[in-house]
Amino acid sequence: MNPIKIKKAYLDKIKQIIKYNQNYYEKSDPLVSDLEYDNLKKEIIALEKKYKFLSHPNSPTKIVGYKPSKNFKKIKHLTPMLSLSNAFTESDLINFEKRIINFLNEKNNFEIEYSAEPKIDGISASLFYKNGKLITGLSRGDGKEGEDITENLKTIKDIPHLIKVKNFPEQIDIRGEVYIQNSDFEKLSDKFANPRNAASGSLRQKNPKETKKIPLRFIAYTHGFEKNMQITSQSEYLKYLNDWGFNINPLNKTIKGVKNLLKNYFEIEKKRNEIDFDIDGIVYKVNNFQLQKRLGNVANAPRWAIAHKFSATSGTSKIQDIDIQIGRTGALTPVAKIKPTNIGGVVVSNATLHNEDEIIRKDIRIGDTVVVERAGDVIPHIVSVNIKKREKNSKKFVFPLKCPSCGSKTIKEYNSTTKKKDAVRRCSSEGFECEKISIEKLKHFVSKEALNIEGFGKKIVENFWNLKLIKFPQDIFNLDYDKILNLDGWGRQSVSNLKYSIDTRKKISFEKLIFALGIRHIGLENAKLIAKNLKSFSNFINLSKLNRFDELQNIDGIGETQINSIKSFFLNKDNLKILNDLSKILSVNHSVDVKKNGPLKDKTFMLTGKLENMSRAEAKSLIEINSGTIISNISKKLDYLIIGNKPTKRKVDSAKELNVKVISQSDWLKMLD
Ligand code: NAD
Repeated sequence: MNPIKIKKAYLDKIKQIIKYNQNYYEKSDPLVSDLEYDNLKKEIIALEKKYKFLSHPNSPTKIVGYKPSKNFKKIKHLTPMLSLSNAFTESDLINFEKRIINFLNEKNNFEIEYSAEPKIDGISASLFYKNGKLITGLSRGDGKEGEDITENLKTIKDIPHLIKVKNFPEQIDIRGEVYIQNSDFEKLSDKFANPRNAASGSLRQKNPKETKKIPLRFIAYTHGFEKNMQITSQSEYLKYLNDWGFNINPLNKTIKGVKNLLKNYFEIEKKRNEIDFDIDGIVYKVNNFQLQKRLGNVANAPRWAIAHKFSATSGTSKIQDIDIQIGRTGALTPVAKIKPTNIGGVVVSNATLHNEDEIIRKDIRIGDTVVVERAGDVIPHIVSVNIKKREKNSKKFVFPLKCPSCGSKTIKEYNSTTKKKDAVRRCSSEGFECEKISIEKLKHFVSKEALNIEGFGKKIVENFWNLKLIKFPQDIFNLDYDKILNLDGWGRQSVSNLKYSIDTRKKISFEKLIFALGIRHIGLENAKLIAKNLKSFSNFINLSKLNRFDELQNIDGIGETQINSIKSFFLNKDNLKILNDLSKILSVNHSVDVKKNGPLKDKTFMLTGKLENMSRAEAKSLIEINSGTIISNISKKLDYLIIGNKPTKRKVDSAKELNVKVISQSDWLKMLD
């Protein structure tokens, strides 16, 4: 490329980043996700490195934040408030340490001690104290001048107005982060997209009374100008901050060596979802103040510190299409097909849109630029639409009024409990008449929680369906194995394994069979109740044959919705044939071996998180077999909350509050002996 073109491409990027900075810092209303911003910043840095003739006073390598807003008085910082350089990978960290060692002219094995501090995603503030009295409070602004937000900062309870401790320096800028806890953010109206914007927007209100309404918090972590401070290291300084009455981050650590920095990074990243405020990385600071002084600063960041960023959980993409998926119960779920984008190391190309109401509420359209979030194992979803980037000719998305699979009418049912129409639109066909519903029903039938046919995965169901090998559940027990043997990817051994898995599942418990039928509103718990009360599969079939549906009314826990659903299941002739055929093929086991005085007698349990080597259903049945009781809400009646991998934090917190014992899967298994 010729230099003129390169320069133009570079300047376009600079122009774009200035716009992003203005929206983010001044308006607290970012135009793009942090991931997109960081990528643009990386592109600019890479261009400057490659082409030495590129430079601009507003380059992100030179500036800090954005100029102070006209809404506030501007005040010069006594010591500039800088930004931080970023590290994303292990090699970035190794290079950071190398640069320091080279700068200090030390040997390669020189050991550096770091203060490792979680990087709170809020906004920084500088508090100037003179003789213990809070004089001014400033925002970072452009690093040189900040906005005078003293009165707003004074409304924050964590910020002391007067410090009377003897060893408090005569003059000092105490610096730290103003933020809002996630649990407090949830209670606010949805004016802001995330806690960081909420903190920034609320802190920089013209009227401090408005700021006071928001539960802002402050964590201190560094200092600017100081007079008479006798402290020699960052870790020591953090301890003093605590003595002086400031909150410090409880996850701060002092660490030596890149390997240990990484270990701490991964440990904290794992805990990230459990912490009640957003952190977007870990800041590493050379601990020794003397070394910090020697290292000094580059243009806009200290040489002695770096922010090791966590992988992003959200990114921006464009909706290329909206696909409608049809579930086992006929629910139509819209899925956004997005332009593949890398979010935290994973390429995401689909994002759920939940249901028709969600599309209407957020006015999501094909062609829209959207923020996509991927958190933990949850399916990626669309957080928001960037209306400013919407194409002029874009049209509202019209949800299909006919099932895309079978053409039947789609309906929204009236929910008599909520007295509202369901948010979900459904295919009105009778189950097996709709191809997509049938396939989903078969997937459910063979699934882990139902018949648990090993090796019979979703892909195989789809493949066998397309080859017309299966249409109804009973077909699974009459497969044409010779035909399967000739299919691509199948051999003698795999066919024989499949046959073995299917044959072993011909023996099935009554409750699992009811569940496997996939009757709407009859989950595993309801299936158990029905099995326990009806006692035999023939009694179940007789509900319809002898019109004995009244019997269901006596079952505690089974309501009108479930009874109506069972009635309509029996009205369908395909279902009647399925029951008839299955009753000839399967050997249904009716006795559930429940111990009367098992080790869990009189104890109540609840589960949260993913268990190891065991499905939820199996865990629940183990509890019941051993005389324990499952309850579905956290209350004083609960004795034990069993936590697996990635438990729901809210549940764990409320259990602790109510003094419910929180135990691990292995603790629980020990109770079973
Ligand atoms: P930064 O956020 O990368 O790092 C510096 C800041 O970290 C400090 O000013 C301070 O506020 C904070 N911090 C938190 N804990 C700290 C600790 N213990 N010690 C020291 N500092 C701590 O730098 P920046 O220049 O403010 O912002 C750049 C980042 O902000 C970008 O990488 C991007 O992710 C985001 N940003 C996003 C947009 C957007 O449009 N989405 C625009 C601008 C900036």
